[in-house]
Amino acid sequence: MVEVPPPSLRLRIDTQALAHNYRALDSMSGDAKAGAAVKADCYGLGAQTCVPVLRDAGADLFFVAHWSEVAPLLPYIEAGNIRVLHGVSNAQEAAYAKAIGAIPVVNSLHQAKVWGEAGGGLCDLMIDTGINRLGISPQEIGDAAIQALNVDCLMSHLASADEDSAMNAQQLAAFKACTGSIAHKRLSLANSAGIALGADYAFDVTRPGLSLYGGIARSELSEVIRQVAYPEAAIMQKRSLSAGDGVGYNSSFTAPAAMTVGVVSIGYADGFLRSWNSGSGSAYLLHGEKRLALLGKISMDMVVVDLSQAPELVEGDWLSVPYMLQHAAQQSSVSQYELLTLLGQRFKRI
Ligand SMILES: *Cc1c(COP(=O)(O)O)cnc(C)c1O
Repeated sequence: MVEVPPPSLRLRIDTQALAHNYRALDSMSGDAKAGAAVKADCYGLGAQTCVPVLRDAGADLFFVAHWSEVAPLLPYIEAGNIRVLHGVSNAQEAAYAKAIGAIPVVNSLHQAKVWGEAGGGLCDLMIDTGINRLGISPQEIGDAAIQALNVDCLMSHLASADEDSAMNAQQLAAFKACTGSIAHKRLSLANSAGIALGADYAFDVTRPGLSLYGGIARSELSEVIRQVAYPEAAIMQKRSLSAGDGVGYNSSFTAPAAMTVGVVSIGYADGFLRSWNSGSGSAYLLHGEKRLALLGKISMDMVVVDLSQAPELVEGDWLSVPYMLQHAAQQSSVSQYELLTLLGQRFKRI
């Protein structure tokens, strides 16, 4: 078989920054131990690359959303250290949990019964304290199906930890009020932003995701957290435009004078959405420190940049996408979470 040639699109993962971010969040968690949210293929960065790094940095509890996300992690970590946030909704999922050995997070009376009927065993329990997504209500804790559970982590999830919202203290109080009502081994409330809310929110286990991967969940983290993901794309073609030539679909950019441009191998199918270039027109790719302005609409597989500032560039040269997440989110009007998880499958992750 002939080898597939390498793609003109690569995602560099700074594994030292990833390990640093884990240790920083673990240390900010005080007496609590930081786990790691590794769902959605480590927020799009690649579990194969990131999970061993997080493990070696000290993480020993890993959160995914789906049962399908468990098996790909087993080469790196033990099943019993994996928590499945969506829980067990039916007998098939419960049987799978039993067979593979990962631990479900029970989210409802129905799930508690499903788990009990499958024979039960260690699980986590999610209590809803106001986000109204998954989780039992505090009034349901006394239910026999809940009381029969063998709970490791009793947990809840903050809705607005990234804001200075009164809801944070309300959820904290609601969570504390529940902790005496059911036997458990550990308590867990804080996501990345919750860790920055301070020691009151840390309990025994924290569950950072975004900030492991370089997201600034709250301003307190901006000096601490380092960029992890560096998307890069190659120039496929240089072109000379004459004054009046239009670029891309609907010719939304018209050359004011003769200019040289580069056609670059990244598009919205790779997560580089049109919203990057729909606003102020100040969007750019980077050649070192040099900003190369985006011209015209972003296509599915490519984008055009102005090469006036960097005439030395040739086809095959690599450009960087500015992916400091807090800044990139402002530039693109896409949230830091989405910027990570949108990164498509066509990148070679290095
Ligand atoms: C995704 C998720 C996390 C991680 O949240 P971040 O905001 O990415 O740090 C923690 N807990 C639960 C229940 C989650 O679903």
